[in-house]
Amino acid sequence: METKLKVKLLAHTENAEKIIATAAKLCYSSSDIEHIQDGLTPEKTESFLQRLVDLGHESPIEHVTFTFGVEGVSRSLLAQITRHRIASYSVKSQRYVTEGQFEYVVPPAIKADKTAYDKYVKTMESIQKEYDDIADILKAKYIADGIAEKAAEKIAIEDARFVLPNACETKIVMTFNARSLMNMFHHRCCERAQWEIRAMADEMLKLVKEVAPTLFKYAGPPCVSGNCPEGKMSCGKMLEKREKYLC
Ligand SMILES: Cc1cc2nc3c(=O)[nH]c(=O)nc-3n(C[C@H](O)[C@H](O)[C@H](O)COP(=O)(O)OP(=O)(O)OC[C@H]3O[C@@H](n4cnc5c(N)ncnc54)[C@H](O)[C@@H]3O)c2cc1C
Repeated sequence: METKLKVKLLAHTENAEKIIATAAKLCYSSSDIEHIQDGLTPEKTESFLQRLVDLGHESPIEHVTFTFGVEGVSRSLLAQITRHRIASYSVKSQRYVTEGQFEYVVPPAIKADKTAYDKYVKTMESIQKEYDDIADILKAKYIADGIAEKAAEKIAIEDARFVLPNACETKIVMTFNARSLMNMFHHRCCERAQWEIRAMADEMLKLVKEVAPTLFKYAGPPCVSGNCPEGKMSCGKMLEKREKYLC
């Protein structure tokens, strides 16, 4: 069974940009906490955010967080996104959820080639069958050993899941603060990132731009706000990328 990427912004800090402007103002003014938000109009808020960008002062943006729900992504993507340590993750368990007909992601290049696609689907079906067989064999053995059926099934699938592929679809809830999110966009919206995580990062960026447009104005790959750091590996599409991300 094939699935599609779905990204939802589940929650975010209310008045995110104002909170950041408050933290920034605190750094640069003598105002007390009682009055720190006085006069923080949308224009002032924007100018505080711009000041942080100009100074490269990033810590005030750590005060706001964004929580995303993601589905239709592979375990391969999961391995990549969880390398971003400054975030919190909850992931659909393969230990406790039986993969009765597991869903899987098909890379576009494989989908576009009939021979590759047929082989891919056949491989997935074969893995499904082996998974079911291994789970059944182990379950029968544990039941014969005197373990109750439900518990036997649970420990059987814990080991059967070792045969499941990177393509296996998963679901993730993840929370990033804005600084960490910017860093993630920097790495994963870049053309050098893999297509799947790039597609997810692009969706996440679209969603946060709707609720905090000034904060994420220059977010995206490094070439959006500066030079490409990739040297010989550069995709050379700087203008195209700026047009895409600076809208
Ligand atoms: C195109 C691409 C190819 C990649 N290829 C590989 C690969 O082949 N093999 C591989 O293992 N990984 C690879 N990665 C993953 C990459 O090395 C990072 O692990 C990943 O992008 C997370 O980035 P991060 O560490 O900046 O994020 P986070 O873990 O969220 O960290 C954010 C920032 O906090 C700071 N920080 C966090 N932890 C520490 C620490 N322990 N010490 C010091 N500073 C810290 C750093 O400034 C860091 O940038 C690749 C990533 C990309 C985008």
